[in-house]
Amino acid sequence: MAVDQKSEVRGQRSAQAISNTQYPISQVVALAGGVGGAKLAHGLAQQLAPDQLTIIVNTGDDFEHLGLLICPDIDTVLYNLAEVQHPQQGWGRADESFQVLEETKRLGHDAWFRLGDRDIALHLLRRQMLDAGMSLTEVIAALARRLGVTHLVLPMSDQSVRTIIHTPEGELPFQEYFVHRRTEPTMLGMHMAGLEQARPTAAVSTALAEADLIIFCPSNPYVSIDPILALPSVREAVARTPTIAVSPIIGGRALKGPAAKMMAEVGADVSAVGVARHYADLLDAFVLDQADRRLVDAISALGIRSFVTDTIMRDKTDRARLAAEVLSFAQSRKPVP
Ligand code: GDP
Repeated sequence: MAVDQKSEVRGQRSAQAISNTQYPISQVVALAGGVGGAKLAHGLAQQLAPDQLTIIVNTGDDFEHLGLLICPDIDTVLYNLAEVQHPQQGWGRADESFQVLEETKRLGHDAWFRLGDRDIALHLLRRQMLDAGMSLTEVIAALARRLGVTHLVLPMSDQSVRTIIHTPEGELPFQEYFVHRRTEPTMLGMHMAGLEQARPTAAVSTALAEADLIIFCPSNPYVSIDPILALPSVREAVARTPTIAVSPIIGGRALKGPAAKMMAEVGADVSAVGVARHYADLLDAFVLDQADRRLVDAISALGIRSFVTDTIMRDKTDRARLAAEVLSFAQSRKPVP
């Protein structure tokens, strides 16, 4: 297809995507971690044309393993957008086998981090491209293209930033805490190693500067969203732009992962209100689950307008429906009651 034909198709798709909304938005940025972030990103990708949506993904969970660069959140987002993700697990591919892992075990490797064969194929190509001198942003763009992902998925930074969890046993690199130790140690605090040298990529800065809506996906506030916000100038850019967050906490619990446990351990209110309070200085609007309807007044008291709906994304249709509701409420400009 010729380039001008392509942009015409994009234009038509954009018009369709926003035709039912009251205040058309042209540029949406979603901030995402892995599981919850990937689900909403997939919903948004069903509602918005590729030139309307940029997904900025946490890289604080990344680490080197078996000589490969593991990017758990980026890969989960890519696999979900390509619709090749494992249906239940929250990481990895559908129709996966584990022959390489089994063989490494037989050869004496302590295989606490699971990588399937298809997954390893992508990791090998990423290694090759990084070794050839490509930036992580370029590598992810290339992998996205090969997976057929048309929406823009951006690592938050091309520099290495690594989440370190402080526990009574000392400091644990994130995957050591999360996968090897199954989040059992108490989290006393955390820091991002490498943050002083890191900056958002040019593509991330441009997307944030051009955004007319920034969506905080229902991701872990501490280890998925905060690392993105911690990069120089990101918080300032987000503060200048209309924002909406979807609560990753429903009925005082996380659907998956340690978000609720971490909130309790750092003394936060383990609820959707606790999440809204965590982001309060940056948030205009907040989406909470119908199970938490009684918390609406507490959210309003923070000066944040809220929308109550079913926020559990069980399937592709749920993801698209929640994304449409988020976009429509963000644009409705309904005042705080
Ligand atoms: P991680 O990096 O793999 O831990 O993934 P995220 O940080 O993106 O997601 C973890 C959070 O996603 C958890 O707090 C879950 O409660 C939340 N989550 C997962 N699925 C859903 C969902 O369907 N709806 C909502 N509202 N939250 C979800």
